Amino acid sequence: MEHWSTQGLRYLEGVGPRVAEKLQKLGLQTQRDLLFHLPLRYEDRTFVSAVGSLQAGQRSQIEAEVLQASVHFRRQGRSRRVLVARLADDTGMITARFFYFSAKQQQLFEKGNWLRCFGEVRLAQGELEMIHPEVEVIDSDNPPPLLTTLTPIYPTTEGLHQLSLKRILQQVITKLKSQGIDETLPQAWLDENGFPDFASAMLDLHRPQSLRDSELIAHNRHPAQHRFVVEELAAHRLALLERRRQIRSRKTPTLVGEDRLTRRLIDKLPFTLTGAQRRVLAELADDFAADKPMIRLLQGDVGSGKTVVAALACLPVIESGYQAALMAPTEILAEQHQQNFCNWLEPLGITVAGLAGADKGRKRARKLDMIATGEAQVVIGTHALFQASVEFKRLGFIIFDEQHRFGVDQRLALQRKTRDDEMPHQLIMTATPIPRTLAMSIYADLDYSQIDELPPGRKPVTTSIVSEQQRGSLIARVAESCAEGGQVYWVCTLVEESEALQCEAAELTYESLSRQLPQLSVGLVHGRMKSAEKEAVVSAFKQGEIHILVATTVIEVGVDVPNANIMIIENPERLGLAQIHQLRGRVGRGGRESFCILLVRNGLSQQVRTRLEIIRATQDGFAIAQKDLELRGAGEVFGTRQTGEISFKIADLMRDQKWFSKVEALAKLLQQPEYARQRGELLRNWIGERQDYTDVG
Ligand code: ADP
Ligand code: MG
Repeated sequence: MEHWSTQGLRYLEGVGPRVAEKLQKLGLQTQRDLLFHLPLRYEDRTFVSAVGSLQAGQRSQIEAEVLQASVHFRRQGRSRRVLVARLADDTGMITARFFYFSAKQQQLFEKGNWLRCFGEVRLAQGELEMIHPEVEVIDSDNPPPLLTTLTPIYPTTEGLHQLSLKRILQQVITKLKSQGIDETLPQAWLDENGFPDFASAMLDLHRPQSLRDSELIAHNRHPAQHRFVVEELAAHRLALLERRRQIRSRKTPTLVGEDRLTRRLIDKLPFTLTGAQRRVLAELADDFAADKPMIRLLQGDVGSGKTVVAALACLPVIESGYQAALMAPTEILAEQHQQNFCNWLEPLGITVAGLAGADKGRKRARKLDMIATGEAQVVIGTHALFQASVEFKRLGFIIFDEQHRFGVDQRLALQRKTRDDEMPHQLIMTATPIPRTLAMSIYADLDYSQIDELPPGRKPVTTSIVSEQQRGSLIARVAESCAEGGQVYWVCTLVEESEALQCEAAELTYESLSRQLPQLSVGLVHGRMKSAEKEAVVSAFKQGEIHILVATTVIEVGVDVPNANIMIIENPERLGLAQIHQLRGRVGRGGRESFCILLVRNGLSQQVRTRLEIIRATQDGFAIAQKDLELRGAGEVFGTRQTGEISFKIADLMRDQKWFSKVEALAKLLQQPEYARQRGELLRNWIGERQDYTDVG
């Protein structure tokens, strides 16, 4: 008979077609999947807070008497009813507010009733309130017992209530208790590490039984959490290693250049390559000459010269009769790469083609034809490159610039763009430094190269924090510097979480600077402009026709204008440190003394100032990224952008770094043939059918 855990969800009470669909949306198909749907967090309802001690922002439980309740009407589009209740205990008062309520709910608020409420406390016009708290009428002399353990809160989806989900989960948990389930990890390994068995670990997390369990869980110290963190990270590592194995087993072009083109290009460059650039090129040449597809991550701080390395790396590819493709995250960058590549490669007789999203009709058809016949030897573009209509003749090498902008699935899509069965070599370039331990976990499928040296002559960028009141003198200084031939980036950040507002802020700054500095030419780029417009402005800035480029963070990565020497960032506290560092890296590339000015509003908290101080005091991108990780966590810094589709059910890459060596050891153990069953189960439980790992075309 089929084990209960592999049965579908329709056997469970409360799961009809509609709910099944919602569960499916959460990736839940079998009863076992439900077990792996672990609580997102826990609520502590084991105690009651005095109203007088409540703090805004906290989810709290109170017991209070209804002093008064009434229904107000407010006009807002159509008129709406609001139920407002004043509640109090011996220590203070609070307002409960409901924008949607039934007659039954309204009855709970009869004057004199005692209520137990749970909800988030907010501060509105200096007064405490709870919006839509959970409410229960109690007997104040004899209140019902409090919970003794934490209440799990599950990730859910619209239309599926937390309580329904909990009831469905409860049935699976009951089965787990009564019927058990096979252990997924080698027993000896569990014993050795003092980790609990599968069933009891699951039970502890879904239904913490004791106060002690609850406390450990609340502090991420519970052995059940540790076990599953290690298990989940090991599953991801195994999936990545498996993908690497599959890719590496594919046929690939062996690319051995004659060095002729390389030497010619190096001779022509206006600078000498750094030792680090040469070392990386040698690493690539070794990979090209081997008979396995290369998958390599190239990390180099902003301004370290990754682009020229990419261009040089294309030469052996072309000499061997293959095409190379370079994919950039934005049109502006694609355009810039195309110009650089044309300058460098066309004199060597190489045909470079750029494919832009805006290319339509005959122009596009002509380019597609060049790519399909192999006339275009290097092809540069954005994600437009992996549309189905783009077909290469013989693609041997793909470069992804600033790849954290690409999901893994997009990388795979481009890999399929080759007619033969050959897997092209891949190079992924990024300026975001990834600490080694972390790289091991996110990028277990990649080899790793680093340009750990900046070109000589780079001057450190003097960074200062300037307050809004000094805007006037800042503008005067900008005018002075421009009069001496310098150029300025003026970056307006996201003040609100809205791109529209960000663009608006940039427009306002653009207008006021244009008014205040009539003698200078001011340009504007932001995300809502057409890409042709953006390119025209950026290229005018490059030509020196524009003195001040007002921009949103669209210029964040890669724009290279050596003459620019001042970077002004408004509201920098809105950005991550690594991002500020990237912006700062846009200046300090030419001969001029360079400045980065962080223009802050008044009244910044000490915490924010301390964070900005890190930027001011250090130029080292690696150290900054490490700090950024500590302050914001891996999810924020790398986001799903950088990790592709990787998201975790329980692990947290930053918090759980201390487990990485155990993860590595467990993955290694499970790779042994006698653990094939456990390995399979681990992948099925934690990764499932996820395309990003399993489908390599
Ligand atoms: P990133 O690594 O941030 O992509 P770029 O490739 O844009 O950096 O290079 C930044 C600037 O440094 C460019 O103007 C480039 O031409 C220049 N550059 C690259 N390598 C060297 C070098 N070895 N010596 C001097 N300048 C260099
Ligand atoms: Mg770059």
